[in-house]
Amino acid sequence: MKTSKLFKEKTVLSYEVFPPKTEDDAHTIYEALDGIREVMPDFISVTYGAGGGTNCAKTLEIAAAVKHQYKIESVAHLRGIDLSRQEVLRIISELEENGIENVLALRGDVMPDTVPAGDFRYADELVAFIRERSDLDILAACYPEGHPGCESIAKDIEHLKRKVDAGASQLITQFFLDNEDFYRFLERTQAAGISIPIQAGIMPVTNRKSIERMVKMCGIKLPKKFMRIMERYEHSPAALRDAGIAYAIDQIIDLLAHDVDGIHLYIMNKPYTAKRIYEAVQNIISA
Ligand code: FAD
Repeated sequence: MKTSKLFKEKTVLSYEVFPPKTEDDAHTIYEALDGIREVMPDFISVTYGAGGGTNCAKTLEIAAAVKHQYKIESVAHLRGIDLSRQEVLRIISELEENGIENVLALRGDVMPDTVPAGDFRYADELVAFIRERSDLDILAACYPEGHPGCESIAKDIEHLKRKVDAGASQLITQFFLDNEDFYRFLERTQAAGISIPIQAGIMPVTNRKSIERMVKMCGIKLPKKFMRIMERYEHSPAALRDAGIAYAIDQIIDLLAHDVDGIHLYIMNKPYTAKRIYEAVQNIISA
């Protein structure tokens, strides 16, 4: 099923997973999926080379398993920056041969030590390329606080509109920790004429160091309320995990009360986190 169709029926709940880094850890993703399947996601998306590698075979393998073995709709991420047109053509035909109907088309981060392949400078070019050559549903990324590489939020939204006009049918946001940033972003997208569904990306934060690293990389604001929790519980892993989950639940309930199109959970392959959040919000999300 094309994931964009889901939004016509309900508030969509999805989870993002990533392929394990080494062959030795390959089994861990399936252990995680065994747990995640119990919490009824509408779809699961599988990252592509996030944090380094470019092994798209793993993304494809996991996305196919999600769809056929776990019987959950899947979305394969695809990053254009280091791919040629020929490679993208091969990947989209492999996705189609494997019955995968949805792709999240990304540019990817510009890394100092790698040379971009040059065929896709920005994600809108990748979106247009896929749109012209396949019937896949195309998702794209967006940034409530602005992409860190863009000079202003206004300019970033202009670029986002190009991705939508090129053929994206659904957007997923970068995670944010202050819902007000998301509501302001929605107003801006509406003013820019963007009317496709936008899912709010929520990251349940359970580790202070990793959040500080991500915040630096992604340019996310750290609200005072959030920092107090991190500082107070940083030396007590169980308390920090529970407080991080509670913070995410609080954000989600507020988003649902604002009739958000959907929630996309960055659960970092942790079924425990998914289960705790699902149990807390399941009656609210379906109300
Ligand atoms: P773009 O939409 O191309 O935007 C990148 C920058 O270029 C922005 O600053 C934008 O304003 C600017 N820009 C866009 N078009 C133009 C133009 N025509 N002229 C000038 N400037 C322009 N990374 C991975 O490697 N693997 C993943 O699986 C992955 N999954 C992700 C999932 C989500 C939901 C999100 C939010 C991010 C994900 N990322 C992933 C990270 C992503 O690759 C980076 O944030 C990357 O820096 C931007 O990708 P993009 O597709 O948003 O790029």
